[in-house]
Amino acid sequence: MLVDTHCHLAAAVFADDRDAVLAAAAAASVSAIVVPAVDVASFTAVHACCQRYPGCVAAYGIHPLAVQHASDADLGHLQKWLQQLPAGSDRPVAIGEIGLDLFIADPALDRQEHFFIEQLKIARACDLPVLLHVRRAVDRVLKQLRRIRVRGGIAHAFNGSRQQADEFIKLGFKLGFGGAMTYSGSTRIRRLAASLPLQAIVLETDAPDMPPAWLAGGRNAPAELPRIAASLAGLRDMGVADLADATSANAHAVLPRLRLIGRSGTLAPDGFGLPIFRSE
Ligand code: ZN
Repeated sequence: MLVDTHCHLAAAVFADDRDAVLAAAAAASVSAIVVPAVDVASFTAVHACCQRYPGCVAAYGIHPLAVQHASDADLGHLQKWLQQLPAGSDRPVAIGEIGLDLFIADPALDRQEHFFIEQLKIARACDLPVLLHVRRAVDRVLKQLRRIRVRGGIAHAFNGSRQQADEFIKLGFKLGFGGAMTYSGSTRIRRLAASLPLQAIVLETDAPDMPPAWLAGGRNAPAELPRIAASLAGLRDMGVADLADATSANAHAVLPRLRLIGRSGTLAPDGFGLPIFRSE
């Protein structure tokens, strides 16, 4: 049983074969998938995806690369969206994907920070963890996390130093590892994946992005998670079953609302005649 803690399953690129992508993930023992939004326009698609597939759970937020086209009204929309969702399984497991990205040309840092800070405040007010996108901005992100204390979360596709990883861990965060770790040339990420405390690590695909080495250039999918897990188990010289159990427990610890889909949940769409565990 595996948890994909970051998968853009609601993206248009999966429109034609989403059922098949989910069926393949379920057949590959992926029992839960966290589906983050990227802007307010994607909220409806994320919600619909998580309604259709009981093993999928939502996170709502405005991605740092989407803030260019976002307005303060979108922050209001996020708050209203969270309030209007009925209690129970429709509630999101996190606020995300949010963060800072200074890798791009002309990153408009002030604007990114404004949206990041305001969404951290929303996460704190809702007592939800956050899913972080961080590129070339680890220390700036840590600075805001120390100022605005949220209940932890996941630094997705972690690519910082060991010292920065330790700072995230102190603040209640897990570090997400996925496709990047499967490339033999990613020596720094592989060293971190091998040496960080096991209880700090969660698995992710970031599908359709970040294809693992065996799919380089292709579309990534949640069914790749077992091979990604095997790659991490190899780096850590441990059994893949133990690694799957430990990383899934870590995901449940940092995203408590994952329990709503149960530890033996299913990814099958509603109406496929399989048991559904989202009962709260
Ligand atoms: Zn993402």
